[in-house]
Amino acid sequence: MTEPILLIEDLHAMVEGKEILRGVNIKILPGEIHAIMGPNGSGKSTLANVLMGKPGYDLVQGRVVYKGEDLAGLAPEERARRGIFLAFQNPTEIPGVSVVNFLRTAHNASKPDHTLGAMEFRRYLQGKMDLLGVGGDLINRYVNQGFSGGERKRAEVLQMAVLDPDLAVLDETDTGLDIDALREVAAGVMKVHNESRGILIITHYQRILNYIEPTFIHVLMGGRIVQEGGKELALVLEAKGYEQFRAEAGIPEGQPLTDEGPDGRQAKK
Ligand code: ADP
Ligand code: MG
Repeated sequence: MTEPILLIEDLHAMVEGKEILRGVNIKILPGEIHAIMGPNGSGKSTLANVLMGKPGYDLVQGRVVYKGEDLAGLAPEERARRGIFLAFQNPTEIPGVSVVNFLRTAHNASKPDHTLGAMEFRRYLQGKMDLLGVGGDLINRYVNQGFSGGERKRAEVLQMAVLDPDLAVLDETDTGLDIDALREVAAGVMKVHNESRGILIITHYQRILNYIEPTFIHVLMGGRIVQEGGKELALVLEAKGYEQFRAEAGIPEGQPLTDEGPDGRQAKK
């Protein structure tokens, strides 16, 4: 039997005293790409944060098993060292730190047994840049400072390639990208992917799934998986929206499906 890269069983998680995830089950086998789709406020980023072990996101029931190991009690950097990568929804600026130095620090921190010196790392990085078709100027700039949306995501995919994770979690990697940048980022993700890894793509639009074909799609609403299917499910969602799952998600009629205010911003955060 093939051991799953990731096994999430009956996961319940609380944030700020509120139960946000209410029984999530997902199994990712090597080589599979899973997508989690759902409206804003459904718990997608909470799931990513729980997988990464971010403080404040408390697993209260169920378990998360990565390559046979229960992740409970492991700090985020220990999870990173085991090969889990989370691309953040809103990557931060790091003034004064160049992309190349940032990537080398991240690489060496996640692989303490295979640290690379400056010259060696340059060579390693160049290989990844060639693979992804990333130009040389990006890596000498300060992390995310003055980056366009596309440049941020390109740097993120480069970071993923450098860290060489067994499980990559991409939270809204498609947000704010024009179609060319989206296509490029998707192509980069596919170049890093292979038969021994798992990828979890979190998105509330289906358009990135035109370029990255998922093995499975899970619809998350109200902290529960309310529907699952193959890649064709994305088209159903695109055509019919999330309203059809209101009953399964336990969200009463009249209550908004998302916690977005009328101006489109998150109501609480
Ligand atoms: P999504 O990523 O699907 O938009 P989130 O996981 O960000 O959803 O949010 C799910 C719910 O959890 C929302 O009601 C949100 O307000 C709440 N939540 C998430 N993170 C926090 C936090 N750090 N503090 C308080 N509430 C949070
Ligand atoms: Mg989110």
